[in-house]
Amino acid sequence: MLRTGLLAASRSPQLRNLVEHTPLAQPLVTRFVAGTGVNEVLPTVADLRADGLAVTLDHLGEDTHDHNAVEATVSAYEDLLAALAEAGLADGAEVSVKLSAVGQFLGDDGERIALDGARRICEAARAAGTTVTLDMEDHTTTDSTLGILTALRADFPWVGVALQAYLHRTEADCAALATAGSRVRLCKGAYAEPASVAFQSKDEVDRSYVRCLRVLMAGAGYPMIASHDPRLIAIADSLAAKYGRAADDHEFQMLHGVRPDEQRRLAARGATMRVYVPYGHDWYGYFMRRLAERPANVGFFLRSLATRS
Ligand SMILES: Cc1cc2nc3c(=O)[nH]c(=O)nc-3n(C[C@H](O)[C@H](O)[C@H](O)COP(=O)(O)OP(=O)(O)OC[C@H]3O[C@@H](n4cnc5c(N)ncnc54)[C@H](O)[C@@H]3O)c2cc1C
Repeated sequence: MLRTGLLAASRSPQLRNLVEHTPLAQPLVTRFVAGTGVNEVLPTVADLRADGLAVTLDHLGEDTHDHNAVEATVSAYEDLLAALAEAGLADGAEVSVKLSAVGQFLGDDGERIALDGARRICEAARAAGTTVTLDMEDHTTTDSTLGILTALRADFPWVGVALQAYLHRTEADCAALATAGSRVRLCKGAYAEPASVAFQSKDEVDRSYVRCLRVLMAGAGYPMIASHDPRLIAIADSLAAKYGRAADDHEFQMLHGVRPDEQRRLAARGATMRVYVPYGHDWYGYFMRRLAERPANVGFFLRSLATRS
């Protein structure tokens, strides 16, 4: 119930206005978000790289219905990628892109606009010497996102995509994408989805995750295991051993601010460990999904409000 309420709140403009203007949200926001601009996020990237962690950077923003905002997002990624290259950080630091932030919802032309924007970001990534992964948003966007992925991969075969284990369709999507050179980030899924398209219980989602992971590990692509769940990480290790995958043949991914000690433990034992690092002003939707994932975060947030009021 709490999860559903928070996910509904993540799309409410009224609540967005309230939470964004509460300075009291800042301490918890800064746990998950690494700053507002490139100058703030680059030192975080440098620290993570120095600790042996790879990075994927997300310029926050989603559900854009405005051409100027789309242009601003694409330019922000171009600037970020140029800055990463200039700082010597592009090796091991890629970017994650939400297609809804680059125009996917801009009317009948949305897909073309999103493809054009994503293409510009891929060109900037290629010039910097790094890669791009497409985030996956709610299930109404899955077909469109996979279509844009196919178009991008014709020119940029290293573009990756996130797939969500909670969707009934995902095992089949994993099979279709488990091909040579294909980078697939497998996550549980972070949006409120109906029972017609998604598993609803944690057990069902976890079981689906394992089925999908088995398909990816057995296939010819490059699996990216995006989870903080210790049981799934242990299963990923045993599947990697079973299918003879070396440490550079798959990777683990976790979110900035979540289980940082475990991130370093995995990197120290020789695993490829990538941290998803969001930055920017538009943190509300991302932040609310992080609250929804873990009720303890809500308690922490409310306690910080109570002790400061
Ligand atoms: C790198 C990365 C990229 C992602 N990209 C996408 C995407 O493109 N699309 C999408 O729908 N979802 C994405 N997600 C989110 C994902 O779908 C899940 O919602 C999220 O990772 C929580 O699931 P979990 O596998 O960690 O397992 P859970 O069972 O939710 O969590 C396992 C344990 O991890 C810890 N934990 C998990 N989440 C939090 C949190 N927010 N705060 C504190 N502790 C926490 C807790 O200890 C928890 O018990 C991504 C996640 C990661 C790590």
